[in-house]
Amino acid sequence: MEVNGTPKPFQNIFFCVPQKKESHTGLERSRKKFYVLSMFPYPSGRLHMGHVRVYTISDTISHFQRMRGHQVLNPMGWDAFGLPAENAAIERGLDPEDWTKSNIESMRKQLDSLGLCFNWDRVSESLHSTDGGLDLNFGVLHHCISILSYLRLGPLLDALADLPEWYGVKSMQANWIGDCSGCFFNHIMKVDGRDSGEVLAAYTGSPEAVFGAAYVSVLPSHRLLHGSSALKTALLRALRPGRDSLTEVTALNVFTGREVPVVISSKKEFDGHLDTVMGIPDSSEEEAELAQSLGLSWISVLKTEQDGTQTLINSDEFTGQSRAEAFNSVTQKARERNAGGYLTSAKLRDWLISRQRYWGTPIPIVHCSACGPVPVPVEELPVTLPKVSSLSGKGASPLKTAQDWLRCQCPRCKGPAERETDTMDTFVDSSWYYFRYTDPQNPLRPFEHSRADHWMPVDVYIGGKEHAVMHLYYARFLSHFCRDQGMVSHREPFRKLLVQGLIKGQTFRVAETGQYLTKEDIDFSGPEPIQRDSGSRLQVTWEKMSKSKQNGLDPQEVLQQYGLDTMRLYLLYAAPPEQDILWDVKTDAIPGVLRWQARLWGLITKLRAAREGPETPNPSVLNKRERSEARKIWENKNYAITQVTGHFTEDFLFNAAISRLMGLTNTLSQASSRVVLHSVEFEEALASLCVMAAPMCPHLASELWAGLSQVRNPLGSVLLGKGSVLQQPWPSVDPEYLQTPDTLQLSVRINNKACGSVSVPREVAQDAQKVQELVLNSSLGARLLSERVIKKAILSPRTALINFLVDE
Ligand SMILES: [Zn+2]
Repeated sequence: MEVNGTPKPFQNIFFCVPQKKESHTGLERSRKKFYVLSMFPYPSGRLHMGHVRVYTISDTISHFQRMRGHQVLNPMGWDAFGLPAENAAIERGLDPEDWTKSNIESMRKQLDSLGLCFNWDRVSESLHSTDGGLDLNFGVLHHCISILSYLRLGPLLDALADLPEWYGVKSMQANWIGDCSGCFFNHIMKVDGRDSGEVLAAYTGSPEAVFGAAYVSVLPSHRLLHGSSALKTALLRALRPGRDSLTEVTALNVFTGREVPVVISSKKEFDGHLDTVMGIPDSSEEEAELAQSLGLSWISVLKTEQDGTQTLINSDEFTGQSRAEAFNSVTQKARERNAGGYLTSAKLRDWLISRQRYWGTPIPIVHCSACGPVPVPVEELPVTLPKVSSLSGKGASPLKTAQDWLRCQCPRCKGPAERETDTMDTFVDSSWYYFRYTDPQNPLRPFEHSRADHWMPVDVYIGGKEHAVMHLYYARFLSHFCRDQGMVSHREPFRKLLVQGLIKGQTFRVAETGQYLTKEDIDFSGPEPIQRDSGSRLQVTWEKMSKSKQNGLDPQEVLQQYGLDTMRLYLLYAAPPEQDILWDVKTDAIPGVLRWQARLWGLITKLRAAREGPETPNPSVLNKRERSEARKIWENKNYAITQVTGHFTEDFLFNAAISRLMGLTNTLSQASSRVVLHSVEFEEALASLCVMAAPMCPHLASELWAGLSQVRNPLGSVLLGKGSVLQQPWPSVDPEYLQTPDTLQLSVRINNKACGSVSVPREVAQDAQKVQELVLNSSLGARLLSERVIKKAILSPRTALINFLVDE
């Protein structure tokens, strides 16, 4: 590639940035791992700007970590098992698999046109989910319904404390989980005195009074009354809608060994979103009234002492303890006996993971008339989804029509049996996909322990705030579960969570009707925009981009108009990742990044031109002033390396990183022609600048690097580096910079006039308040400033300068 004086139109550079392919089979132990994950997209068929933003961030972090010598996993897949696919298929009369596959294909093309460097070899077929069943046939999820009684929120809440880098999301999770103020007890459900195979976890806020339970109450919407539960018939028989209905189903409390009847509540909801509660008359008047009205008997378990405190009676070994003592000892014992007892929040109900729909992961359970529900043996997994002839979206699960698939042999008694026809909710798939990426081709199990341990936890997880509660909660839950099953060593799946803001577009609505208008329908010629035909006034706001609001942007069009790296740089520069971007090309962000790219190009051209002239570069010919100028460049380079590295590793403020690199660009642009020609500092700073820009604008940086590597008569070794810019090591701070004196000379100006310098400790050199004090206390300050009124002091740490604005 030939670099010449005019910047080329950057936008047509579509080449795949060369990558060292990560070793797939062997896990490299010598290099540190880095797992960067962006939330996988739902394959709708169209990328939107929000996707482009999240993948630009993950791509930038991946490039940076590779340049630091790390082994990077940046995988990609599809959240492909969703109801939209089934609904779209019903609407259009298509097969959901065909529809999903064609969407994946077109989105893959769009992603490729963005030049993103994902580990596509990590996309497992399972995450394509095209052969359905493989997606989730977790051996450990055999008792996929009974895992629900595993809800142990205490540990999930406690573990939040170990996630320092979750910021705002942490409190959202904690609020969502709620205070852990009570606990669940497991109950074996019986009909006519026979064990039904169902275990139900019922909540109480007074676990110490557990021996006084009179009943267990479920909501009419409880899963046991719907779907395919063994208790459904008995429960529905007793159901009198709108009334508290006593059923013949009983619940044996695993902890107390006492059996109580099950009541279907007259309520539509219990407090805190629960759907199963214990009725303990001693602990609540309301529960006592209900038990009385149904003619139920119970045992008194609380005795009020003369001093008003309550102690336990009729409670086995806990008799005689105070309520507070018993609260702790009962819950602890219940845990030890595996009968419940985990302190939990009253805010959660069971996670309903099954649906009567087709396009989802089959639940690997077989129903036998003799044995009841039987798990499919591990060696027969996965259960794959059969083809069905037509989908209506109504009635029973479409899987009931797949007769050949439905009928099977009972794994236990070998008699005739039927497969479970509900499928799993898509949240189940997305709650463990990050494990599967670590071992995507494994045909035997969800993932190998050692592989998951090598890559987990995810170092940075990037996605939208809308997923901050539900998805993250389920994912954390499943990771805790896998840890307790001995499948992985890490408990928390995500170390750092980067929640990205929205991309908003300007919307124009007719003030009276609220109708959204396209730009074509608007007259912008006056002082305020109006509707073209009617002249109506418009409300102008910023809203999340969407088709219905006429404010969307097609990434392909943006790409055509501005080019790939300009789009990337704009997305990174317009706002920190966690803030919303108000997409407006009229602000300074687009011109700013365009100008910066042109200036980078100009610097390469300048160096090449200087070194191609008749004079041979020679640092020893620089005079004192020029050497000091070169020294400033060297300092600025080191400062930029420190700052940019910090932004890439600590706060992910890519906008600040770009600003810092723009600052270094300015310094280099101002360099005198002799410093450009004769100093190694200019050359090295320019090389570092290109390398540090590379993760964010890899295509431009590759071109710049090609230009740099052709510079004649290089003075330093840095330009001799082999390979492309992305194969260069990330620049490190010169050791001498770190050893520079603990103080620096700060130039002092008064009303913009230079008037000397003051020595300040380096560690406070960025603190405007401290620097101002030091200057005022110095002899210079005493002489020039003590008598004057300071209106303002402006510190510029980059140029080591403070300017006092004073009354003349
Ligand atoms: Zn059987």
